[in-house]
Amino acid sequence: MTDVVNPATGEVFTRVSAASVGEVDAAVARAVDAFARWRWVAPGERARLLRRFAALVDAHVAELAELEVRNSGHTVGNARWEAGNVRDVLDYYAGAPERLTGRQIPVPGGLDVTVHEPLGVVGVIVPWNFPMPIAAWGFAPALAAGNTVVLKPAELTPLTALRLAELGREAGLPDGVFTVLPGEGSVVGERLVGHPAVRKICFTGSTEVGTRIMAACAAQVKRVTLELGGKSANLVFADADLEKAAATAPYAVFDNAGQDCCARSRILVQRPVYDRFLELLEPAVRAFRVEDPARETAEMGPLISATQRDRVAGYVDGARVAFTGSRPDGPGFWHAPTVLLADSPADRHWREEIFGPVVSVLPFDDEADGVRLANDTDYGLSGSIWTRDVGRALRVARAVESGTLSVNSHSSVRYWTPFGGMKRSGLGRELGPDALHAFTDVKNVFISTEE
Ligand code: NAP
Ligand code: MG
Repeated sequence: MTDVVNPATGEVFTRVSAASVGEVDAAVARAVDAFARWRWVAPGERARLLRRFAALVDAHVAELAELEVRNSGHTVGNARWEAGNVRDVLDYYAGAPERLTGRQIPVPGGLDVTVHEPLGVVGVIVPWNFPMPIAAWGFAPALAAGNTVVLKPAELTPLTALRLAELGREAGLPDGVFTVLPGEGSVVGERLVGHPAVRKICFTGSTEVGTRIMAACAAQVKRVTLELGGKSANLVFADADLEKAAATAPYAVFDNAGQDCCARSRILVQRPVYDRFLELLEPAVRAFRVEDPARETAEMGPLISATQRDRVAGYVDGARVAFTGSRPDGPGFWHAPTVLLADSPADRHWREEIFGPVVSVLPFDDEADGVRLANDTDYGLSGSIWTRDVGRALRVARAVESGTLSVNSHSSVRYWTPFGGMKRSGLGRELGPDALHAFTDVKNVFISTEE
């Protein structure tokens, strides 16, 4: 049994049993069995089941959000969005089964067609930072394409995934089509990766674990999608709308207490406006509402665990602090929003993913310097560009090595546009019109017309 803790109070409020290797094998066997039928369920019927699943999630948004506030410390506003995102992702991919079309390619002597075949059992491994959306980005397209799914939530945050599996069953998904197995990464996660009947791993988490998973998948030529860490840049040029750039920068990094792979945790400011930007940033950071995440007004809650809070604090120790926001006193894993000044791009807080409410600021000289500093990292997940010069916005957007960029905005995620990283931030793309193809193999069939 694993304790489940409310990070806003530090109290254990329930316990969940952790699956053993034997239970993983049994779940995979059921998923293999279910696949034999699920893949042949008529496209319209599979679509109807997924739509019904989406409708049930919609009817339970408040309950799912409440669970996430308690288990993950997410603000109630964010948690509602996250449950709504699961609904939307299910609805979006519910439109896919009847549209998963192949091609007819001209060839002599017959007819050539391609078919997108489902892979089989897909293992989805989810981190603790966005338990609901990241689960859905894996299971919804996987199921729509005709695969069955065994999903492992993070040890710290199993509750919403377990509830989603119940809603899936209630919607009429046949037994074995979608199973949620809580447990340890070193037990359940590793067995999913090593199990020969699991044909694909869809992993979100740290670059360190993702790298090991990719190597382990190679042994079986197992398909793998990786969504890993980030250290994304927020590039603010001198001609930008500075007021808007400064007012929005805290949301781009402190949202979800900075436990966001897309966090714009490096702010690069062009030298002539560096001081002015910091002047504008300070009141925005001080006003950031860090409080009980169940309150409607909360903009940030606690960190997920004491370990994570201590890790984050380790980056602030000894660094040059420009200013900080507030945090509640008392129990819970709180850390105030913190702005650090980098002395050079070699600073540890500038280079490493902190995964907490800490942002580093560094000045840059010209466009080439800004792009060079933005790309001076092993990561490449997201980023923002603030400028009023359209030509520059496009040049910089093409030059920054990141999978998901925004201009004069900090948006990263829309369920109908692709999401994923370059370099060590990941492999493959989730969401959007093409994600389904990551859960299928193309088969080519030639039919002779010879007499
Ligand atoms: P993590 O330690 O890599 O864990 C992620 C998941 O993998 C958890 O379910 C974990 O189980 C499991 N796991 C751990 N070791 C494993 C192994 N050897 N084999 C198979 N599975 C294993 O990451 P985390 O601490 O949960 O999350 C924070 C990190 O994830 C950050 O670096 C962040 O940037 C990254 N992240 C990236 C994205 C993205 O979309 N790019 C999104 C969210 C998070 P346990 O729960 O037992 O540890
Ligand atoms: Mg971990």
